[in-house]
Amino acid sequence: MSHTDCIIIGSGIAGLTTALKVREAGLSVTVLERTQLGREASWAGGGILCPLYAWRYPEPVMRLAAAGMARYPAFIEELRSKQTTDPEFYTSGMLVVDPIQTPNEAERIAAWATRHQYPHQWQAASAHFAHLPDQNALWLPDINTVRNPRLLHALIAAVRQAGVILLEQQPALELLVQNNRITGVRCDRATYPAGQVIVTAGAWSGGLVPGLSPAHIFPVRGQMIRFEPAPAPGLHTILMDQGIYMIPRQDGSVVVGSTVEHVGFDKHTTTEAIAHLHRRAVALWPNLARNAIAQQWAGLRPGSQDELPYLGAHPKIEGLWVGAGFYRNGLAMGPMVAEILTHLITGQPAIMDLTDYRLDRPTQF
Ligand SMILES: Cc1cc2nc3c(=O)[nH]c(=O)nc-3n(C[C@H](O)[C@H](O)[C@H](O)COP(=O)(O)OP(=O)(O)OC[C@H]3O[C@@H](n4cnc5c(N)ncnc54)[C@H](O)[C@@H]3O)c2cc1C
Repeated sequence: MSHTDCIIIGSGIAGLTTALKVREAGLSVTVLERTQLGREASWAGGGILCPLYAWRYPEPVMRLAAAGMARYPAFIEELRSKQTTDPEFYTSGMLVVDPIQTPNEAERIAAWATRHQYPHQWQAASAHFAHLPDQNALWLPDINTVRNPRLLHALIAAVRQAGVILLEQQPALELLVQNNRITGVRCDRATYPAGQVIVTAGAWSGGLVPGLSPAHIFPVRGQMIRFEPAPAPGLHTILMDQGIYMIPRQDGSVVVGSTVEHVGFDKHTTTEAIAHLHRRAVALWPNLARNAIAQQWAGLRPGSQDELPYLGAHPKIEGLWVGAGFYRNGLAMGPMVAEILTHLITGQPAIMDLTDYRLDRPTQF
């Protein structure tokens, strides 16, 4: 196999956005994908471009997500200029019906909104939706959303147009290292030499990178349903309550998620979880009672013990880079992750302090 400047392992949002940026920086790029292009967590996700109850996350999660979110308009513009699939990016806003769970949560929300300059308003939930209670809800008018399967479709086309080689059904089995320097990747039918390798293999990354393990990065299943569009008045904003969210799509269908389950690499849906999502959705938005479920699925979020990603250089192997463990926020973070990794591998100055995300940080199991 001929030499490529950079091999990227995994074709989710992290791998594909990075492939595009690295290629635009002038390097030749090959993406190795274990199964089909862009069909794992990034396909399964909801497409909300902001962490849920964002103020409850460790600060470095929001820092990376905020930087990703800020890059979305330009990223979408670039994809649209290539005239591929419309990713259905738009500002839906989000109404959080139950934002306050602890005594000082209102102050935390105010501090979070100020720090990230996020407009927020306290309003009675019933002012937005008459059937909801009068309790104080949090309205976040600037939240954006994207239809992620379509985003991936557009991204795959853009990456191809840019000249990236995309190889499906090519699970990377081993990273090849000589004298503490990466030299390539071994798959079962071929070996791919490369001077730089980036592991963006989602929930599977822990088993590939020396020094990390499946205890560092592990799958967290999320089940989802999508309701058919119906003639009844449609939902126009994201509604969030008790950990369940409803996302309106532009064709009038509504996506509802999600569960948070530690069941290994099992992507089955379960009757109980689907019934629970259905029940909660209809309670929140009764118009849905008449809509059929069009689709149900599950995806595997790449979780980590401290909920922070692993992002940056491998501490011991030159030329090896990692972008993984984005847990519930990888879609929001994607464009920033791509920029960070591209700057690193092309030797440009760092655009963010990556100390919090380093691979050799102490972790408690
Ligand atoms: C139900 C659900 C809802 C979500 N909702 C949101 C949301 O609203 N907003 C948000 O920002 N995020 C959301 N997320 C999280 C987000 O989807 C993930 O954080 C993100 O997709 C992770 O992207 P990734 O590229 O790291 O991983 P993935 O998309 O999983 O991609 C990794 C790829 O690597 C491939 N791979 C693995 N091992 C190998 C190997 N050895 N060789 C070659 N290829 C390999 C896999 O097959 C896969 O294609 C959600 C996730 C789920 C499951």
